[in-house]
Amino acid sequence: MKGYLKTIMILLVFTIVITGLLGFRGIPFQTAAIVDGGNVEKELVGNLPMEDVVEDLQELPDGFEDNFHEGSYEDLVKEDLQEKDEDTVENEDVKVAYLTFDDGPSPKITPQILDILKDYDIKATFFVIGDLAEKYPDILLRIHSEGHLIANHTYSHNYKHIYSHPKKLIAELEKTDELFTSILGSQYKRSSFMRFPGGSFGEKLKPFRQAVTAAGYINIDWNVVNGDAEGNNVSPEKQLKRLQETLQNKREAVILMHDSNTKQTTVDALPDLIEYIMSQGYVFEILDESNF
Ligand SMILES: [Zn+2]
Repeated sequence: MKGYLKTIMILLVFTIVITGLLGFRGIPFQTAAIVDGGNVEKELVGNLPMEDVVEDLQELPDGFEDNFHEGSYEDLVKEDLQEKDEDTVENEDVKVAYLTFDDGPSPKITPQILDILKDYDIKATFFVIGDLAEKYPDILLRIHSEGHLIANHTYSHNYKHIYSHPKKLIAELEKTDELFTSILGSQYKRSSFMRFPGGSFGEKLKPFRQAVTAAGYINIDWNVVNGDAEGNNVSPEKQLKRLQETLQNKREAVILMHDSNTKQTTVDALPDLIEYIMSQGYVFEILDESNF
């Protein structure tokens, strides 16, 4: 009898200990199962205590919240990890954001953009229209004196004229360069960057691209947008969404925006756009000829 009792006691104690262990570990495992989805958790969670992970998840950038209905955060991270084409990088690499503003200067919008850039201590690139620089030379001087890059966006921005013949396009670029020098002084060193009004895409513009290169310009389009030219008064929320859709962890993000007279919502959106880009680990630079 004594032997049976001893065995039962041992089994009882063993069962209590096992139940206790499982009970203790049960909650964290369940929590982990919610957060972890496979290999991704190693990237996402690492060895962090669970509270830190929960905190991290709560501090996700705003854009992820909008995407939650389309899939879990793990799915988004998986997608990110799988997307390893040339244009994307691991987090430890430096990512550069080039803010570019086209179609100014404008007396209403450009000074507000400059104020915001000054607040954030960010330098940007302005693709200036010659005709407007001639009208508002003081704003051109301010862009230049505050350390931003001035680049060429033709004199007239008139598609019919500039795209009627490559020579017309080159003549407008040269006229605009001369104008920049006349406003900014002979010490001004002109940038080689130019941007085609409407972009340089398509077979039709091939002879124009060739002419521009032959004339010593660096033609630069964009690979990220805030969508401020995709309608009138595009809301700041929509602009942030378009930025998030197109930024996608690109190593070099050339971001197209506008500082023409009607773009007040671009001013309104800009602080949030900048904050989002910063949250994604980017540094801001002006276009650099050695990189393009
Ligand atoms: Zn333009």
